[in-house]
Amino acid sequence: MTELHQRAQILKQHLSGLPHSKIDFASSLIKQLERKGQLSEKQWFWVDKLADMAQGIPDFTQPEPEKITVGALTGLIAMFNKAAEKLKYPAIALQLPDGNEVRLSRAGKESKNSGYVYVKVPASVGYAGKVDPDGQYFPKDVKEPLKTELATLLKKMSRHPAETAAEYGKLTGRCCFCSLPLTDPKSTAVGYGKVCAHRYGLPWGGKNSSCN
Ligand SMILES: [Zn+2]
Repeated sequence: MTELHQRAQILKQHLSGLPHSKIDFASSLIKQLERKGQLSEKQWFWVDKLADMAQGIPDFTQPEPEKITVGALTGLIAMFNKAAEKLKYPAIALQLPDGNEVRLSRAGKESKNSGYVYVKVPASVGYAGKVDPDGQYFPKDVKEPLKTELATLLKKMSRHPAETAAEYGKLTGRCCFCSLPLTDPKSTAVGYGKVCAHRYGLPWGGKNSSCN
């Protein structure tokens, strides 16, 4: 018995574990196999997939929707709102795993989208969605894997802003908030500038230092 025939055997034993809508399809595959002794490549693909499904094993090749949902990015919105007290157009640069830059920028007071944060990936898709004032992310025309990578990065920045900002500074040598090079040794050590830290409400270690 081949490995695939064993999979068909498993499927047959666990048929009742399938959703109702899939049982007829699975039964017909099994009947066809018993009749002909063989199936097409596509049918074997389904036998394999349905065997997992029948046993309640999740399909790991499909991203689960709840893993893409970022939840409310309230930390990110709070940071931008704080910065907007002093800055007209607060913006933050972050980096994706492939090295492409993500630009987050808050719509100005005169904009009809005031309070929204735009998400852009200039090197690939350009505009990649917005975060509303309640912290909900609405991706726009973004496909996988970028969709999940962006969601992960936004969530990280919202929940661990100091660490995420510092990571960017250490990778690029620039402050993620003002994009200026980090030249002050203390800023280099922290990973972002002191003035920006104050503006965005983040902790900063030392004293007597200017932003960069
Ligand atoms: Zn800065």
